Amino acid sequence: MKEFSNEYREEMRQAVSLQSEQTYRNSFNIKINLPENLQLLDKISWNFFWSWQPDGVELFRELDPALWEKCEQNPRLFLRNIKQLRLWQKSTDSEYVAKIEKFNAKLEQYAAQKPQDFGKISTENPVAYFCAEYGVHNSLPNYSGGLGILAGDHLKSASDLNIPLVAVGLLYRYGYFRQKIGHDGWQQEKYNDVFESEFALTPVLDETGERIHTTVHIRGREVLVQAWKAQIGRIPLYLLDTNVPQNIEVDRYITGHLYGGDTETRIVQEKVLGLGGVRLLRKLNIHPSVFHLNEGHSAFLTLQLTAEYLEKNPEATFEEASAKVREQCVFTTHTPVSAGNDVFPPDVLRGCFGNRLIGALKITDEEFLSLGRTNPDDTKEWFGMTPLAIRMCRSANGVSEKHGEVSRELWLSMFPEGTDVSDVPITHITNGVHAPTWIAPVFQELYEKHIGADWNELIKDEKAWTEAIDQIPDEEIWKTHLTLKHLLVAFIRQRTLAKETGSQDTINEHEDTRRLFDANVLTIGFARRVAAYKRWNLLLSDLERLLKLVDDAERPVQFVFAGKAHPQDRVGKHILQQLMSINHDSNWQKRAVFIEDYDQEVARFLVQGVDVWMNVPRRPMEASGTSGQKAAMNGGLNFSILDGWWIEGYNEINGFAIGDLSEEDDETMDRKDGEALYEVLETQVIPAYYETDENGLRKEWIRRMKNSLATLTPQFSSDRMVKDYFEKIYC
Ligand SMILES: *Cc1c(COP(=O)(O)O)cnc(C)c1O
Repeated sequence: MKEFSNEYREEMRQAVSLQSEQTYRNSFNIKINLPENLQLLDKISWNFFWSWQPDGVELFRELDPALWEKCEQNPRLFLRNIKQLRLWQKSTDSEYVAKIEKFNAKLEQYAAQKPQDFGKISTENPVAYFCAEYGVHNSLPNYSGGLGILAGDHLKSASDLNIPLVAVGLLYRYGYFRQKIGHDGWQQEKYNDVFESEFALTPVLDETGERIHTTVHIRGREVLVQAWKAQIGRIPLYLLDTNVPQNIEVDRYITGHLYGGDTETRIVQEKVLGLGGVRLLRKLNIHPSVFHLNEGHSAFLTLQLTAEYLEKNPEATFEEASAKVREQCVFTTHTPVSAGNDVFPPDVLRGCFGNRLIGALKITDEEFLSLGRTNPDDTKEWFGMTPLAIRMCRSANGVSEKHGEVSRELWLSMFPEGTDVSDVPITHITNGVHAPTWIAPVFQELYEKHIGADWNELIKDEKAWTEAIDQIPDEEIWKTHLTLKHLLVAFIRQRTLAKETGSQDTINEHEDTRRLFDANVLTIGFARRVAAYKRWNLLLSDLERLLKLVDDAERPVQFVFAGKAHPQDRVGKHILQQLMSINHDSNWQKRAVFIEDYDQEVARFLVQGVDVWMNVPRRPMEASGTSGQKAAMNGGLNFSILDGWWIEGYNEINGFAIGDLSEEDDETMDRKDGEALYEVLETQVIPAYYETDENGLRKEWIRRMKNSLATLTPQFSSDRMVKDYFEKIYC
């Protein structure tokens, strides 16, 4: 099933074998033969607005549910492949046609509302949001994980809140890898070629209809950069790439893989994003009042802005110019983990920058390299994108209260000696998630019924929201949750079956998939990147105790896992292999599954369907985390280490805390947290879940679910987050 896109691509390629690949890549407007009264579907497919409206998704799905899944919810691919007969059938279904028209009217009304002007931030001078990855929807696979999903949610909330914002990123020809687990439990990576013409991307053209190109000087050559536009509600997202025929082969691969290349590739990618991104905006006549560097990958843009200023003001010095640039730039750091903070060896970095930009900045090589050091005088220190961003931006923030504190300590050494840690100018805005994207359609229906069509508006009013949630009958909350749990079970069985019939064996090797998973059993989800600090093995630290919980006849527990290890992370791959190798004569085979290829779609089923969402990072490495927020918005209870967002979210009723906030060495912490994990599971989570009243209703559990829905939805919605950015950072 997952292979469909590739198979289909092969067919398409053969069908167009007389054309060159380039022609196919550029045949982005292949005419879709829709009956007259279904033509609006084509239009609707070009704006990702449909993807966060349950009735938008349903318009496509309803046409041919099986094909919709096969096309991985990509409406462009779907409309090209759907059978003509099916289209003609549906074109005679007046109810369906009316639904299309109704949805189109909604889209038009939404799109017609022009962004509001807020003083210096206006349509003419918007916020320019820069990020190396965007996870808007699965049908635009241009992200690797949390950072991308967060960026996608940021754009959707900016759109809903009608804030003038444009976004800039890169389009990766091979995206991020697709995961398969081999017979030996070892992760295999596969990259799909992304054909732009299969996605809701339009080429960015000038008034004469010609493609707009900008150039970036790389390895002694002028590399041509082109751009694509994705429409995210009211927000345009511009994605740059170097796969332009006029470029030589090696340059065409600069934007090849997301986080895949060597150091030099990373540097030149980040040059394309930072320098190329600003140049593109200039060509489009967009003059941002604020540049938001979402993570350090785009920090080179500050150098482009400085060079521009110096060109216009030839008498100015670098100091004067960079002071002006600082006024316009704000920076968000997303992790204290060193792998997440790019650093480059000085000679490699210097090699990637010719003399032109450094000359234009009116600084020496040494001064240039010192911009990226925590200690400017330490010539041995590597060039860091985070120090560059902190130095060149007027504001820097972490993504939770705790992460703000951790970042102030981490970057203290950049500031004059004697600076008090509390005076380090790094603040925080806690991450959030986009409620309409992540709240399951059945919950949205429940809210519509009990709260009204504008339930999403009410989330902004914490008190009113809490009262509204309180009034929903317990039985209905539980029924809704159970529906989602059944959907999850079906999803797990179907994925496992697809895998088994694909003649692969997994931890569920010989298990009858029809018996796999049970909607009445306490279900715990654990899905995240497989990285050491996420401590996947904490749960396995006492296997015997774990298997006892799974095997319990009265009160069993089942687990669903998902997550990718970075292709170069052998430690991470070993952790996965260890998990796959649990073979025990027990219910483990029936009650624990690993879902391959964690992505936005898998995440959706998991966060919506589990009872409990577990997170066990080593403190204080989890900057925020957002998947637990998604689970909370669907009535899942968090069962988590007190780190990142959970320190702010936990109130003793709306979930469970593992361990405490005490500071210890890693080894002690791992041991204590492992013990606490089992302890809380055995004495709090399991008893609370299996406690029922005389009618068999899980009163206590539902009380906690409601508290979670009421308290966490407003606090961790990306509407709240974007509003905070707007008021505290952008303005
Ligand atoms: C939400 C999400 C993430 C980020 O969640 P964490 O809690 O930071 O792990 C990563 N990947 C996918 C696919 C997601 O949906």
